Order: sequence, then structure tokens, then C-alpha cells
Amino acid sequence: MQTQIMTFIIPIIALIFNVIFFVFWWGNKRRLHVLAYSACFGSMALGVLINIWILGSFGLMGIISYHVFSMAGVLALMWGTAVRNGKKAPLVASAATVAFTCIILWAAMAAGSQDAARMAQNTNSALLVAITAINLWHTSGRHWSDRSLIWVLILLSGFGFLRPFLTMLSDFIFGAGEGAAVMLTSLHVLILAVLLTLMALSLIATVIFEDVRNTRYEAAIDQLSGLRTRGAFEAEAQLMLDRASARNKPLSLIMADIDHFKNINDTFGHLAGDRVIAVFGEQISSLVRSGDMAGRIGGEEFCVLIWDCSLEDAAQLAERIRQAAARQGKSEKDEISPYKVSFGVAEWRNMESYKALFERADSALYRAKEAGRNQVFTENGAFPDGGGSVVPFASRMSQRHGLGAG
Ligand code: GH3
Ligand code: MG
Ligand code: MG
Repeated sequence: MQTQIMTFIIPIIALIFNVIFFVFWWGNKRRLHVLAYSACFGSMALGVLINIWILGSFGLMGIISYHVFSMAGVLALMWGTAVRNGKKAPLVASAATVAFTCIILWAAMAAGSQDAARMAQNTNSALLVAITAINLWHTSGRHWSDRSLIWVLILLSGFGFLRPFLTMLSDFIFGAGEGAAVMLTSLHVLILAVLLTLMALSLIATVIFEDVRNTRYEAAIDQLSGLRTRGAFEAEAQLMLDRASARNKPLSLIMADIDHFKNINDTFGHLAGDRVIAVFGEQISSLVRSGDMAGRIGGEEFCVLIWDCSLEDAAQLAERIRQAAARQGKSEKDEISPYKVSFGVAEWRNMESYKALFERADSALYRAKEAGRNQVFTENGAFPDGGGSVVPFASRMSQRHGLGAG
């Protein structure tokens, strides 16, 4: 009775997680890796069940089909974890090791050597689990759930490599089929059950973490421009200011406002206006560095906070963005109405609040508009000519932007 219960522990656990991951996948069918996790546990369960019920535990076909199904499960896991991390998995080479192991299994069983069969089977599964762990190890930006998954996979793999030796040792000391050996088998099943459960829980944690991160990301990203929303931009800007202060780094803010955008809407339609916003957002993203931060802070208004950057360099970057924007819509294949953009640039002064920095960039932008649009202004005047004096500016614009206390 005890042995029977032990036999069913693995398939029952595997089936439960097969269903759980299937339900997760059903909730968001774009996450194919979650379906792969479900297939992983389903395939493992099927392998054991076929082995127990249909082909008999010790038949050659039983062993081979068990091996093929459980390794298909590991391959599904390898594929799922790789896809989730945007990596490639060595699936063909891994599948080749399974085919090769099946031949060894056949030869070992034909020669009547159960030890050799057990060794081949366990080594192959341990190897594939190790490859999955190594592949996951090499992904960047790992969350604690990924790290815990890696450790469980390492333990599973280590157990797979050791298991045939432990069984042989026990058979040697206590004799095969004796009470102690049966106990050892039960212990192996228990260890495997615990490790599989831990693996499933780690995978569930990765799926939940991913959902939370995606939800946060969607809330922080403006769908039209692909840049940060105003709230996300302001929150992150404050953090960047704090970091710049701690590390004594220069920081500059570029403000951009599309010229006569209302005319674009009125002449070409609201959708054409939307397209301009989307294309300009893409242009900004392609021209700023990964350490900089860009956001759409209003209808056709954008901000870029540039890390470790002086006023001069920031104005040069703004000029590059301006020129890139002005090139758009020149030919028909651009499929976008032409548009121009005005820019205001200000360099952050140590201890200055984000609100104050914003107001200075905003007043420079206002002066660019006043001076005829389609140009870059710093507080020293037009860029690159540099002319003009610093005009104190009671920021009407900032009041319109409704900034909170900085
Ligand atoms: P200026 O050169 O002085 O900046 O003039 P402007 O026409 O660009 O500025 P104004 O503030 O008068 O008009 C901005 C327009 O942007 C008004 C609003 O309908 C439009 N707008 C705001 N958000 C969106 C959007 O998401 N999509 C589209 N298509 N239009 C938008
Ligand atoms: Mg505007
Ligand atoms: Mg405008």
C-alpha cells in the first residue's frame, strides 16, 4: 500500500501543476512559456502513468516511453525558460541526447543490466536539467524567483547524477528488493516530489513576478509614444536628481513641444496627429542613451532627462532630435505629415528641485516658440548661435502644466 502511494505521488503532483499552469496560460494566451510549463508537468505525469499502467514498470517499452515523456517535459521547461528570457535553448542537441540514451536503454535492457539502464536514464535527465539551469544562469536581470528556480534545478540535476549510485550502493549493502532498498526508493520518490514541488513553486513565482512587472510597466508607459507617462517620468526624475546629487554628476533636462500641432490635427486629422506623436516618441527613444529618461508629459509635449550631461551637450542632443524630426514627412514613403519641434534645455543646479529645473527648461522652450519655433533654446538663448540674454521668466507655462511642489 505504502509503495503504491509512493508510486502515484509524482504523477499526482505533476498533474496538479499541469492544470495550474494551464489555467495561468488560459488567462493570458500570449505567454506561451507558461503553456510550456504546463506541458512540462503534463508530459512528466503522462510518462509515469504510461509506465505504471500501460506498459508495466520493467518492460523495455515502459522504460523507454517513460524516459521519452519525462525528457519531453524537461525540454518543454528548457524551451519555456529560454523563451521567457529571450534566449535560445539547445533543443536539438538536447533531443539528440535523449535519442542516444534510448538506444543505450534498449541495449542495456537487452543485456539485462538494469543498473546500466538506470544510470543512462538518470544521467540524461540530470544533464538536461543542468543545461536548463546553466541557460537560465546566463540571463541578465534575474529576479529572486529565477535564482530560486536555478538552485532547485541544480539540486534536481545533482540528485539525478547521484541517484543511480545511491541505488547501487543500497542494493550492494542491503540487497535488491529488501526492506531497506524499498525504503530508499521511497526516500528517492519523496526527495523528487519535494524538488518538483519547489520547482513548480519557483516557476509560479516567476509567472506572478512577471505579471506584476508587466502591469507596472503598462501603467508607467504611454501607449502612443512608447515613452514614460508624466507620473512615471516625474517620479523617476526625482530619483535621478537624488542620484546625481549623491554622485555629483551633471544632469540636463530637454523639453520638446511639437509646433502648430493643432494645425496638423485640423489639416490631416486626429489619427495623423497620433502618428506624429508615435513617430516622434520613437525618434526620441532611438537618440537617447539607456541611462537617460524620456517621457510624454502632455498632449504633444515631451521631456528627456539626460544623465551626466552638461547644458552644451544636452542642447546638441536636442538639436539632433530637432533635425531628425524636421526630416520626417519629406517624402511620400514616410507616410506621415511633416512636423517641426521646438526645444527648451536647462542644466540642473545642485540642490535645485525638479519643479525649478522644469520651469527653467519650460521658459527656454517658451522663448524658442516666441523666436519663431523649430529651434533649440537654452537659458542663454538660441542654440547653436547662443545669442540672447537670460530673460527671467515668470513661468506661465509651468502654471499651465500644473506641477506640484518639487
Ligand atoms: P504651438 O506651436 O504653440 O505648440 O501650437 P500647438 O498647436 O502645437 O499647441 P496647442 O496647445 O494649441 O495645441 C495642442 C493640440 O494637441 C491640441 C490638442 O487637441 C492636441 N492633442 C493633445 N493630445 C493629443 C493626442 O494624443 N493626439 C492628437 N492627435 N492630438 C492631441
Ligand atoms: Mg503644447
Ligand atoms: Mg505644440
